[in-house]
Amino acid sequence: MRPTGPLHLGNLHGALANWISMQERYDCFFFIADWHALTSDYESTGHISKYVRNMLIDWLSAGLSPDKSTLFIQSRIKEHAELFLLLTMITPVPWLERNPTYKDQIVQMSNKDLSTFGFLGYPVLQAADIIMYKAHGVPVGVDQVPHVEITREIARRFNYFYGEVFPEPESILTETPKILGIDGRKMSKSYNNAIFLSDSPDEIAASVSKMVTDPQRARKSDPGNPDVCNVYEFHKLYSDEQTIQRINRECRTAEIGCVECKKIMARHLINFLEPIHKRREHYEARPQLVDDIISDGCGKARQVARETMAEVREAVKI
Ligand code: SF4
Repeated sequence: MRPTGPLHLGNLHGALANWISMQERYDCFFFIADWHALTSDYESTGHISKYVRNMLIDWLSAGLSPDKSTLFIQSRIKEHAELFLLLTMITPVPWLERNPTYKDQIVQMSNKDLSTFGFLGYPVLQAADIIMYKAHGVPVGVDQVPHVEITREIARRFNYFYGEVFPEPESILTETPKILGIDGRKMSKSYNNAIFLSDSPDEIAASVSKMVTDPQRARKSDPGNPDVCNVYEFHKLYSDEQTIQRINRECRTAEIGCVECKKIMARHLINFLEPIHKRREHYEARPQLVDDIISDGCGKARQVARETMAEVREAVKI
């Protein structure tokens, strides 16, 4: 995950919740991709280290466990840079140029100069990140499947030239609920429409009160349609079954107004986030513990990376 700022509900349901369940079933490596943050934000870098630490606290607060998974920071494991360099030698440039995210982001982020070697080559760095740990699977969203495909191609090419070292990782796709921001667009920091895991109950209540609802419902006396309302989608995630059914019924018959409906949802959301907030307080009050978790996780990752690189150097004979 790139450290681009505090995590929001979209990140929680889109990735973290899945990771938390995966750590029960697999030997997982999760890392904060701070070098990747440089591929698009290379001009101003002062905030990255603060974001890295906050992201780790967000992860721990959400329920990722350093006892079950290896949690580490990419830039602390220099072996990633060495493997990246070796992989760049064998990766044909057209593979990178045809990467759909590359083409898409060049257009979308036209305010930034992304005509850099690092931006074109970031799928190679991702490949290094993944195959370093001989990963068999990578949890990704549909839009990232092409990246895993490039990783598979690079691993295959390496194995073809130098002998079997790396397994070809599979994409692990999971169904994730669609979380929209308070304005009804995709939840994103850059749209200023996100509810963050670290938001206080007052901030959550304020954000929820601004959420867009059924656009056809102008007055409380107008019957609403919960099926087109984002607040109702949130109820489905955070409220109990009885409340969900009640809202569904009373919205359609105009027995409940949006203001009240939002207050009920905000209460459930705040309750849902309470254990996450409690864990955050625990870690924020113990900076040494966070340092130790980072250091232990990086130590575990480094050990595996060193073993892999020993094999790689022998295979490449350099
Ligand atoms: S009552 Fe609730 S579900 Fe119905 S439109 Fe208003 S906010 Fe949405």
